[in-house]
Amino acid sequence: MTKNLSSIAKAKKIKYFLISFVDLFGVLRSKLVPASAISGMQKDGAGFAGFATWLDMTPADSDMFAIPDPDSLIQLPWNKEVGWLASDLWMDGKQVEASPRVMLKKQIGILSRDKLIMKSGVECEYFLVSADGASIADQRDVQSKPCYDQSALMRRYDLIKEICDCMIELGWGPYQNDHEDANGQFEMNWDYSDCLTTADRHVFFKFMVKSLSEKHGLRATFMPKPFENLTGNGCHAHISLWNEKNNKFLESGDRYGLSKLAYNFLGGLMKNAASLSAFFNPTVNSFRRINAPPTKSGASWSPSSISYTGNNRTHMIRIPDPGRFELRLMDGSSNPYLLQAGILAAGIHGMSVKLDPGEPLTCNMYTDYKNYPDLDKLPDDLEEALEKLEENKILKDAFGESVINSYIKLKKEEIRSFFQNENFDKKGPITDWEKLNTLDC
Ligand SMILES: [Mg+2]
Repeated sequence: MTKNLSSIAKAKKIKYFLISFVDLFGVLRSKLVPASAISGMQKDGAGFAGFATWLDMTPADSDMFAIPDPDSLIQLPWNKEVGWLASDLWMDGKQVEASPRVMLKKQIGILSRDKLIMKSGVECEYFLVSADGASIADQRDVQSKPCYDQSALMRRYDLIKEICDCMIELGWGPYQNDHEDANGQFEMNWDYSDCLTTADRHVFFKFMVKSLSEKHGLRATFMPKPFENLTGNGCHAHISLWNEKNNKFLESGDRYGLSKLAYNFLGGLMKNAASLSAFFNPTVNSFRRINAPPTKSGASWSPSSISYTGNNRTHMIRIPDPGRFELRLMDGSSNPYLLQAGILAAGIHGMSVKLDPGEPLTCNMYTDYKNYPDLDKLPDDLEEALEKLEENKILKDAFGESVINSYIKLKKEEIRSFFQNENFDKKGPITDWEKLNTLDC
């Protein structure tokens, strides 16, 4: 039975709902709706002008409606009067195909024909920076290898504890928090779930981290590469496919503990990785992280070639444990729904044609890449990623050609706006345009 949001509001003392959606650029948009009006909104949705967001619409288009998914309800732990809801977009009585949450649900629907679900977890890295984003917030955080630095972590205890307490209260099962490889950088991990739940939580996590950081007088950023010489913000995902009870990626007889199905899925990701980079590394700034020169800590921790391996962090795909693998391509600016949808579409393709990913590589790819000149490379910039996406029939079939064309069109407009004032030089300083347009990604 569908949950009644009006009754839930009374029981939980929710006074306002944020009816939210994420557009193609990953921007979280909402209307704040009083509980007295939620009953109608639950049925008909909250109205928006689609053109005013990053969706390929015109000012002449009909109203767009965000119909909230009651199962996604999250009562803000730091402001219990407010309930957050993820929504699906509708227009003229039809779902908006280019709405990222709808794109993900379409792939989930295709997978469900084989009675399978994708479970995933994401590792969202972020920096705490000064208000203008010019420097990290903690001026004492200066070690050349700052990863897991206890003192720097504990100087942020009040904030990290508050975020982690929220996740405990919400039942997400958080299990560790750490200082990451860059000065000023942190990561917080919570349990994996079905991929739609993970995507909704990923959206909410970014909102929560930014909101609570502001409350503590700090600014959080998920920008892929906010500082030239420091490791960037990755957003790795761990993937497995399940039927009702069993992990279908698990195969105890295999050297890495993966099933044939898992290798086929992985093959689909490798084949489509360069095109998917347009989803997974969607900003101009993203490509300072991919193919990046070594950082102050000694490694970029991000991939440059399309390869897979066992428990080795220098490749694009790592198999850390039996029954799952980690895709390390995505960065902090990736749209949480397109992240999961892209993985799923490529994996479904790999399984449907039984793609063989070939032999794994076991080298240190950061140092030995020159020994593998024939390996497919990841794109060097966003334009190249979009060209690969434009050529990709598999992803056009999966999401619909018009959806992919809309995405490419909007992203090309963004690139044009960048080049009006700037040049993209990976060795040069991060531009003001990148900061202005990516710090709040
Ligand atoms: Mg990390």
